[in-house]
Amino acid sequence: MSEKATLLVVNKMAKQNSNIPETSSSSALVPIHVQPISMIDDEELAIPVEAPIVSSYNDRIRPLLDAIDKLRHLKVMQEGIQLPTIVVVGDQSSGKSSVLESLAGINLPRGQGICTRVPLIMRLQHHSDPLPELHLEFLGRTVQTDETHISDAINQATDEIAGSELHLEFLGRTVQTDATHISDAINQATDEIAGSGKGISHTPLTLVVKKNGVPDLTMVDLPGITRVPVHGQPDDIYEQISAIITEYIKPEESIILNVLSATVDFPTCESIRMSQRVDKTGLRTLAVVTKVDKAPEGLLDKVMADDVNIGLGYVCVRNRIGDESYDEARKEEANLFETHPLLSKIDKSIVGIPVLAQKLVRIQATIIAKCLPEIVRKINDKLSANISELNRMPHNLTSVPEAMSALMQIIGSSVESLRKVLLRGEFEEYPDDKHMHCTARLSEMLNQCARELQKSSEDNYKDNFLMEEIRILEETRGIGLPNFLPRAAFLMILQKKVNEISGAPVEFVCKVWEYIEKVVVAVLMRHSEHYPQLESSTRRAAQILIAKRKDMSADRVAEIIEMEKIIDYTCDPEYLTVWGKLMASKNLFLDVMNNYSRSTLITIDGFGEVEVGHLKSFPNIRDQAFDIKMRIAAYWKIVLKRLVDSMALNLQFSVKNLVNKDMETEIVNELMGPHGGGLERLLEESPSVAIKRERLNKSIKLLKDSKEVVAKVMDRIAINAD
Ligand code: GDP
Ligand code: MG
Repeated sequence: MSEKATLLVVNKMAKQNSNIPETSSSSALVPIHVQPISMIDDEELAIPVEAPIVSSYNDRIRPLLDAIDKLRHLKVMQEGIQLPTIVVVGDQSSGKSSVLESLAGINLPRGQGICTRVPLIMRLQHHSDPLPELHLEFLGRTVQTDETHISDAINQATDEIAGSELHLEFLGRTVQTDATHISDAINQATDEIAGSGKGISHTPLTLVVKKNGVPDLTMVDLPGITRVPVHGQPDDIYEQISAIITEYIKPEESIILNVLSATVDFPTCESIRMSQRVDKTGLRTLAVVTKVDKAPEGLLDKVMADDVNIGLGYVCVRNRIGDESYDEARKEEANLFETHPLLSKIDKSIVGIPVLAQKLVRIQATIIAKCLPEIVRKINDKLSANISELNRMPHNLTSVPEAMSALMQIIGSSVESLRKVLLRGEFEEYPDDKHMHCTARLSEMLNQCARELQKSSEDNYKDNFLMEEIRILEETRGIGLPNFLPRAAFLMILQKKVNEISGAPVEFVCKVWEYIEKVVVAVLMRHSEHYPQLESSTRRAAQILIAKRKDMSADRVAEIIEMEKIIDYTCDPEYLTVWGKLMASKNLFLDVMNNYSRSTLITIDGFGEVEVGHLKSFPNIRDQAFDIKMRIAAYWKIVLKRLVDSMALNLQFSVKNLVNKDMETEIVNELMGPHGGGLERLLEESPSVAIKRERLNKSIKLLKDSKEVVAKVMDRIAINAD
């Protein structure tokens, strides 16, 4: 269902646009009026249908249309570049295919249910050679059978529809056909693209009809809108069809040709609702009213009332009925609008297939002229973007020395990037990615850790002031004088405090290393982006190294904590200064203890307001407890500072070593080790890179071809403008 497909019908004849046969001849449908594009204006549509046919209008439009068709054929739309397109929409059986048939003069599949199951791009090209040449080319599976068909067809070539050469292009092959077999051929191609049955597909079919007298027009016929699935159709047929239609009519570059049956009430048409959704003002919608022969009553009023906002106007037509030939159908139509008591009242400028054709040709010229400059700009932009992307891709490595130098270069540039983000704080490679501004993030993390340590040790001083100290003093009391401070008590309290915070530093270093791992992996991945086969080795190297460094840091921090627990030392004079300040409150404390009339809620430096009343019952020991608390408080500041400082130094030192010393060796070891696959690994281009390269090359080729196509017509426009 999603296979690539195009179906194309061609009619080869010598170009002789200056000599288009007269309207009365068998197949000419459209009198073409000379008109420079810039002057196109709907007033001109009022010209009589039999106006003399002159070709210079065609000469100017044709190259533009050809260019657009070439771009369409090149599939420039795959690059997201929209092309000006006339899109035919309409409810099921509103007469879409009949209108296209009338414009093209060929038989399209018609029948019950949805016949049009894939978008059918129909290119009509006028062709002035009176001698038709018919062929149907087919490449692929069904070639033989169809070629036999074709021989038959060519033998009958002089039959009724002399004058057309048709071929269908789809699924990468070309099928020659003729007007007699075109209907079968389209059905067959549709089945191949969308599967047989009633499924539908987005993949378009291109039908090129080069034929004497057809208007130069390219239109897309879409599946008709149906609310209720008929037998064999999927349940979500409405959603599927509506998705295809929306895809085609949504772009501003699309002209919506809304086919409405005269027999229905226009505002109830599903196709009207759908086109109004994407073209609210109706400025790019043209209505074709079919089956006027079936419902002539009130048609004029319906069209004049314009209840449904049709910006480009209405054209009423009568299509071929039953076995009529095209000529007969056109005669019948002309006759109908001439003689019918109701239909003859409708202004001649809005009736008949020739008027429709002429109107479409003009609308098409206008939209193409309008869109072309933007298309040129988009092609150029995409082309240069793709070329620079391709240039950024690595060379395909072919020898070991080449692979070695590529590896060294990846490692070198990765290490340099890491130095920048982790050590030097230079972020020009990641200006907007805050996560990669590592020096700032690391210092933030460290500050936060310091704050948390500080906070977690500000314990509940206020309740039971000094009671913990008293308990410990009592437990460590020995046989000796009471006014010696037992060192054991001090160490015990210190140890207890260190224990309380001992989890946090280890947690902190783990967090920091996790962060560093993410950064290192991101940098390595960025630098080895073009060699996905390197990714696993470099990632593993980074993980191994960082795991090692993380363990080392954790051990180091654990050791520092252990030291703080058992040794109390500092040479920092700050200790004595702080202790001195804290002890200044001691006199106040003693005073309160000894004076029963004073309030027992006192303010002590460094602890704020504390209740001390409960200490009156510990006369022998509260003095020592106070002293020991102040020493601990003064010393604790030193301990925390020392802890944060040494973690900072250790981390910084470790990261430096990681980047400057270990990284290169470890990556090389990994790559050369048992899992790495060696340098040879680098010589195999990874499929994803190969695919990307191919995609870019293809797209560049397509865009270059497209550029050439448009350059030619733009030159012509420039020459014509002179
Ligand atoms: P689609 O489903 O929109 O493609 O509609 P078709 O083109 O298949 O037409 C549906 C039916 O309406 C066919 O039987 C046509 O012959 C018939 N039909 C289309 N246009 C006219 C018309 O102008 N007059 C009459 N009487 N029948 C028409
Ligand atoms: Mg149809």
